[in-house]
Amino acid sequence: MQNNEFEKIGKRLLQERLLGGNFGNMSIRSETGFYITKSGSFMDEPGDLKYVSMDKIPEEGASSEWRVHFDIYNKTNKKAIIHAHPVFSVAASFCYHEIIPEDSEGKMLCPVIPVVTGEPGTDDLAWNISEALKKSSVAIAKGHGTFAAGKDLTEAYLLTSIAEYCCKIIYLRGGLGGLSP
Ligand SMILES: [Zn+2]
Repeated sequence: MQNNEFEKIGKRLLQERLLGGNFGNMSIRSETGFYITKSGSFMDEPGDLKYVSMDKIPEEGASSEWRVHFDIYNKTNKKAIIHAHPVFSVAASFCYHEIIPEDSEGKMLCPVIPVVTGEPGTDDLAWNISEALKKSSVAIAKGHGTFAAGKDLTEAYLLTSIAEYCCKIIYLRGGLGGLSP
């Protein structure tokens, strides 16, 4: 399956520097599972998407973070997910257990951004992120990146962008200094 929506959103993520290199992944729910970007693909050139069924069987070559996407779809009614590596969000994740936005959009759209632990690609990370996304639409894996979920890729992209904006404001106000690692 190929989808122009993935390419369009991938370009936005890159333009806004919410990814580094070929990091990150995106998916959309289908009736019986979800379609996710390939492992190692560039988000602005996603190519063929890989299918993961709700029997937990991923097509070969699916992103290594498919478990996180699986758990989120399994536990919520979200329709699309974006995992990105925005620098201010990652930096902030070392300083807070949860991020409380100070700017007006952040307060409105993601009043609490949970920070969770778990190594990339593990069941641990999948469990922690999916639990966090039952209560919030965006969460941060500590030292790693954001997972945002919404009704479509556009909403997931906007949430990613807003989370990064919040963290940047906190940084510019001096909020990332002097806190415990
Ligand atoms: Zn990642």
